[in-house]
Amino acid sequence: MDRARRPSCTVCGDRMALARIAPIERIHELRTFECAKCGQVDRYAVKSGSDAYWLLMRETLLPAAER
Ligand SMILES: [Zn+2]
Repeated sequence: MDRARRPSCTVCGDRMALARIAPIERIHELRTFECAKCGQVDRYAVKSGSDAYWLLMRETLLPAAER
């Protein structure tokens, strides 16, 4: 399980805190992380399971409801 994994901030490199998890597709969930240091918010589409991977979401890829 990688539920406790905390990625590094894409701006300053500090560890980010998990702010929210929301399902976005059948196999993915959207994890929102906030940086306490610089305020950056990064979102990752995460697939769990044996072939788990994390995909950094750019703003332009977010569904309209997340903007
Ligand atoms: Zn930061």
